[in-house]
Amino acid sequence: MLYLKTEEEIGYLRESNLLVSLTLAELASIIRPGITTLYLDEIAETFIRDNGAIPAFKGYGGFPNTLCTSVNDQVVHGIPSSYILKEGDIISVDCGVIMNGWYGDSAFTFPVGIIRDDVKKLLDYTRASLEEGVRGAVSGNRVGDISFAVQNKAESGGFSVVRELVGHGLGKKLHEQPEVPNYGKKGTGPKMEKGLVICIEPMINAGKKETYQMGDGWTIKTADGKLSAHFEYAVAVGKGEPDVLTTFKFIDEVLNKM
Ligand code: MG
Ligand code: MG
Repeated sequence: MLYLKTEEEIGYLRESNLLVSLTLAELASIIRPGITTLYLDEIAETFIRDNGAIPAFKGYGGFPNTLCTSVNDQVVHGIPSSYILKEGDIISVDCGVIMNGWYGDSAFTFPVGIIRDDVKKLLDYTRASLEEGVRGAVSGNRVGDISFAVQNKAESGGFSVVRELVGHGLGKKLHEQPEVPNYGKKGTGPKMEKGLVICIEPMINAGKKETYQMGDGWTIKTADGKLSAHFEYAVAVGKGEPDVLTTFKFIDEVLNKM
C-alpha cells in the first residue's frame, strides 16, 4: 500500500531532505583531486550529527559508512575508502539522514577538477533525466510516467539506464512502496496521489546498461567498465505540480564559484 503523508509529515521530510541538500553542498566545497572518499565521509557524518540528525545509511543492512561514494565506473553503493580522488574522476555521493524520525535521501554526481566534455555530457543528461522525471510527480499520474520520462531523456543522449536498482517511497522508512524504476511505459504502474513522497534516482551508464556487484557485497559497477552517473531527488507528489524536497541550489552555488 502507498502511504500518503499529511502536510505536517511532509514538513518533517522537507527538513530532513534540506539537511541532506546542505550536507552535499558542504561536500561540494571540499571535493577536489588529492582527498580520499573516507575524508568526505567523516566531514558528512560530523555535519549531520552537528545538525541534530543521524546518518541514515550507517548500519543500514550493515553498510559501514555515512555516505555511498561511487567513483567512475561504480554505479552506486560504493564504500568510502582510502582511494584518493584524481583530476577527471566523477564521484556520486549518496547521502541519507534521519531527523525527528523522518528520512532524507538524495544524491549528486560531482566532477573532480576538470572533466572531459563527453563525461560532462553524461552528468548533464543524468541530471536532466531526473528533472524530466520529476515533472511527472503529480497526482493522477502513474509511476510509469516518471519512469518513461527519465528513460527517454537518458537514451536521447545515447546513454543507457540501469535496471537492477530503482527509486522508492520515502518516509519513516528509507525504502517504502512504490518502486520507481528509471525505465518504463507511460500510463503503467501505481497511480500517484498528493502526499505520496518518492525518491527518483536515475543511474545512467555511458556504455551498456549491465552491472554487477563487487565482492564487498555493496558496490555496484558497470559490467563494461564505462562511467556511470547518479542524481536523486526526494519529491512529494503534488496537485498540478511536484513539490521537490531536495535542492541542488546550494551545490550549484559552490560549483559555480570554483
Ligand atoms: Mg540515495
Ligand atoms: Mg534512494
